[in-house]
Amino acid sequence: MHYATIKTCDIANGPGVRTSLFVSGCTHHCKNCFNEVAWDFSYGEPFTKEIRNKIFELSAADYVTGLSLLGGEPMEPENQRELVPFVRNFRALYPNKTVWCYSGYTWEQLTGAEACRCRCESTDAFLSLLDVLVDGEFVQDKYDISLRFRGSSNQRILNVPRSLAAGQPVLWQDKALFSSHSM
Ligand code: SF4
Repeated sequence: MHYATIKTCDIANGPGVRTSLFVSGCTHHCKNCFNEVAWDFSYGEPFTKEIRNKIFELSAADYVTGLSLLGGEPMEPENQRELVPFVRNFRALYPNKTVWCYSGYTWEQLTGAEACRCRCESTDAFLSLLDVLVDGEFVQDKYDISLRFRGSSNQRILNVPRSLAAGQPVLWQDKALFSSHSM
């Protein structure tokens, strides 16, 4: 696997301060893609052991609330196979931090309810390691600047453990938002 960018102190792709990894390779080829260079699976730098360790180090501080995976497309089978052991190690090191993943594939495609090229032997394991999945392709006509943590209104922010338990997509609820409203 290759990656394009690692962002530290990212506050745009999930709650709190996060480490964000932008992996290379994407077969969606959406109209008006904001990141066309990342369609190429060999774009950027190789995702080496040193880079994995660097991400663990960058995420160690208490103020870092978690890891976000973006692309490109983290859920291309080639990328899933490398991300599963990496995320498993991240979770073992930091059980109190969250893992978010952004995918152009939908929940239904990833779970096999709809036949899709994204399903592989690693997909169920990958989903079981996530806290939140932001699903669906970016659709320019549904772009809305007021949306939090997503670009277009067709995309859903899903609570993955609850969705897996329910056998259907369950929306993520921002606890911080609710607690500030109730104050
Ligand atoms: S899923 Fe993202 S990176 Fe891939 S083509 Fe669509 S907008 Fe571009």
